[in-house]
Amino acid sequence: MAEQSFKYIIVGGGLAGASAIQGIREVDTKGPILLIGAEKHLPYDRPPLTKKLWFGKKKVEDIFLQKKDFYDNNGVTLLLGTNAVELDATHKTVTDENGETYRYEKLLIATGGLPRSLPIAGGDLEGLCYYRTLDDYENIRKQAVEGASAIIIGGGFIGSEIAAALNMNKIDVTMIYPSSYLVNKVFPEQLGVALQKHFMEKGIRIFAKSKPELITAGHHRFITKIENGPAIESDMVIVGVGISPVLDLARTAGLDTGNGIVVNEFLQTSNPDIYAAGDNAFFPYQALGIKTRVEHWDNALTQGKYAGRNMAGEKESYTHMPYFFSDLFEFGYEAVGEVNSELDIFCDWQKENDTGVIYYMRDKKVRGVMLCNIWEKVEVAREMIKSGKKYKHKDLRDAIR
Ligand SMILES: Cc1cc2nc3c(=O)[nH]c(=O)nc-3n(C[C@H](O)[C@H](O)[C@H](O)COP(=O)(O)OP(=O)(O)OC[C@H]3O[C@@H](n4cnc5c(N)ncnc54)[C@H](O)[C@@H]3O)c2cc1C
Repeated sequence: MAEQSFKYIIVGGGLAGASAIQGIREVDTKGPILLIGAEKHLPYDRPPLTKKLWFGKKKVEDIFLQKKDFYDNNGVTLLLGTNAVELDATHKTVTDENGETYRYEKLLIATGGLPRSLPIAGGDLEGLCYYRTLDDYENIRKQAVEGASAIIIGGGFIGSEIAAALNMNKIDVTMIYPSSYLVNKVFPEQLGVALQKHFMEKGIRIFAKSKPELITAGHHRFITKIENGPAIESDMVIVGVGISPVLDLARTAGLDTGNGIVVNEFLQTSNPDIYAAGDNAFFPYQALGIKTRVEHWDNALTQGKYAGRNMAGEKESYTHMPYFFSDLFEFGYEAVGEVNSELDIFCDWQKENDTGVIYYMRDKKVRGVMLCNIWEKVEVAREMIKSGKKYKHKDLRDAIR
């Protein structure tokens, strides 16, 4: 069969892929677009999967980024429920799992990340959930009837958010994680310990400094054995221990990869007709003067848009400083920059461990800012980071209110 040709092909129907369509259409209103996505759903937002869908603030139909009409009206051919398996950069073709081949002029790899699996016996048991997708939400939702029990493995963003969400839905939750407090890569110890205490007061059982060593299943129940600890029975086991960028396709094309697909400031890979954006892109974070990969919503949204615009002929440097956000019970925050608990940290609390600003500093310069229950100050924080100015801790007191 003759190959079909598209001016633009986007592989990956997540947030970065969907925003790229908008980026392309801002510049080129007509060039045919093919979107190949492994999930069967139209592109949707992931943050509600651990938040608003559980708090009754959104329904599944609200989380789709665009309705089907948008794609029909914008000349986008959707190939959903289909994996792209091979990329030939020389002939400018991509082949899907059914053996169909498509030609492109410009291609975007927006394949995101896949959950890391537990390297223990039982880590691959059927029914154990590596939480990332809408299908995962729907599967857990069905089981999350009042009084059911869940073991959550992992104390980072996903683990702590889903633990809070299930607890609010009257599920008996037990968390297991190796660090001594919650979200330890990001939160200063004082805050992580305080939130951990709050989780326990809400009734969540916590095994910190602990690892699962074996998971078994039978009679629709799981038994998780903790290293040097008890074996706990539960209806569900949900794992959130981080993701790895999906690099297979980039590798089939011989593109430069490392901790992600290496791109330049225009989001072009080592082949200038192929772009990458979102959770899988290793890019120059210009305001911080580093190369990195970011696994957050605003980065995927904005990078997708830039990649699309550049694919359509613009040459715009990705200078954006993405922010991220999370909600854990009453504690909500927005953060920007290098939010790394190993940096020199100064906390300017208005209300201890609840409302205030956390500054992450290196060589006296502000590298990252977390705004805890303080809203609409992300831009101020960005300016502070970009200024490169040196601060003493005392000068930061009341700097953002
Ligand atoms: C449960 C959850 C909650 C989150 N909450 C927050 C939050 O509160 N704040 C925040 O800032 N960020 C949050 N994030 C992170 C944010 O959602 C991600 O950064 C964002 O989704 C990344 O978008 P992406 O398009 O790069 O990748 P993805 O969303 O991973 O999309 C990639 C898509 O590509 C598909 N794909 C992969 N390989 C192929 C292939 N070979 N062929 C075809 N398709 C393929 C995948 O199936 C997937 O659908 C959350 C993430 C999750 C999972």
